[in-house]
Amino acid sequence: MAQLPFVIAGGGIGGLVAALVLARQGLVAQVLEQADALGEIGAGIQLGPNVFRMFEHLGLTEPIRQVAYFPPNLVMRDVSSGELIVRSPVGEHALATYRQPYGVIYRADLHQVLLQACRALPSVGLHVKSKVTGYSQRDGSVDVQLADGRQLQAAALIGADGLWSRVREQVVGDGKPRVSGHIAYRAVLPMSEVPPHLYSPDVTLWGGEKTHLVHYPLRRGELFNLVAVFHSDRYEEGWNTFGDPEELHLRFAKAASPVKELLAKIETWKMWVLCDREPVANWSQGHVTLLGDAAHPMLQYLAQGACMAIEDAVTLGAALRASPSDIAGAFRSYQKARYLRTGRVQLTARFYGEIYHASGVMRELRNRMFQSGGEAAGFIGTHWLYEGIDPERPCD
Ligand SMILES: Cc1cc2nc3c(=O)[nH]c(=O)nc-3n(C[C@H](O)[C@H](O)[C@H](O)COP(=O)(O)OP(=O)(O)OC[C@H]3O[C@@H](n4cnc5c(N)ncnc54)[C@H](O)[C@@H]3O)c2cc1C
Repeated sequence: MAQLPFVIAGGGIGGLVAALVLARQGLVAQVLEQADALGEIGAGIQLGPNVFRMFEHLGLTEPIRQVAYFPPNLVMRDVSSGELIVRSPVGEHALATYRQPYGVIYRADLHQVLLQACRALPSVGLHVKSKVTGYSQRDGSVDVQLADGRQLQAAALIGADGLWSRVREQVVGDGKPRVSGHIAYRAVLPMSEVPPHLYSPDVTLWGGEKTHLVHYPLRRGELFNLVAVFHSDRYEEGWNTFGDPEELHLRFAKAASPVKELLAKIETWKMWVLCDREPVANWSQGHVTLLGDAAHPMLQYLAQGACMAIEDAVTLGAALRASPSDIAGAFRSYQKARYLRTGRVQLTARFYGEIYHASGVMRELRNRMFQSGGEAAGFIGTHWLYEGIDPERPCD
């Protein structure tokens, strides 16, 4: 049994970190990715200080630093009046409070760092065109079924296959994800195309009624990332398709002029229909478990989905280290250590979406509370998240 591999469905951020962690513990990890090539779409993501704790533990801080960007402030403005709601010095705060930075990164760069780390380990196998469709369990091992008819015998199966997880269908069986009605349009510009009067070194969020725009520099400041979000009932589900700029401009018609000018700079947007799920406490079944979006898909309003997937992988590794001969027990202690924290992020992210998209009295109250809270106002409610987990003892 010891020779059988751990099969990981999905070669995204969560799947690769899981492979890395397991292989470094002497286990064989086979990553099965459905796509024709391993890679990530071009878009930015934010990385809280909690995930830099994981990078330190994984020995990845330096390669990440080389491609990341570290914004000085988190800024919130009112999308229609342009007024400043809060400016919080996140760079300073994160280092002083958590001894870790707050960064942003191009997804493809993060994925590349993880791929390189995996490729350096002979006990990680990376397989493309390998779509997992299901599994069955017998005598303490798992038969993993693939779409092309192949079947692999594994010591365990980890479903890191994202929002539309096939592994989750079998483990949890709670139907399709919840379509939030919120749509994200994402684009990345070379910095040379950003007019100086529209540039900001900060992570800036323009909040408005049922809309917001976020922008920040990426890749050492060479790129500029934009994410525009609005409520729309035009789409039901989808992933990574092209957006309709006309609808976007309509939704931001009343926005302050810098926002409209920035939106007008972009011709091609990629679109995401944003979904999440209700948190669940049990996402393991014998020698099969879930990780990342497959386990706890969340709206992106706390900018933590990838960070949580990475914390999951570190926790899973620790649980298996503690109980190497009891995989089912290790999977149970892994999920026990994770479900309340990830559930809290899932639910808090929904609430943050409401704050960003507030109108009427809620908007007035938001602006008043943030403006009277001073510089620290931007960090209200996130200490539990950013202080993170102890990577040496995440199951305690
Ligand atoms: C607009 C937006 C902004 C975001 N911003 C942030 C942010 O700022 N910070 C942050 O931390 N997170 C952010 N996120 C969330 C983050 O992108 C996800 O939480 C993260 O990518 C989850 O990683 P994962 O590995 O679990 O899943 P995924 O990244 O979805 O990877 C799953 C992989 O599995 C593969 N796959 C799927 N099905 C199968 C199958 N049956 N067999 C084999 N392979 C399969 C897929 O092709 C994919 O490669 C954002 C998300 C969105 C939509």
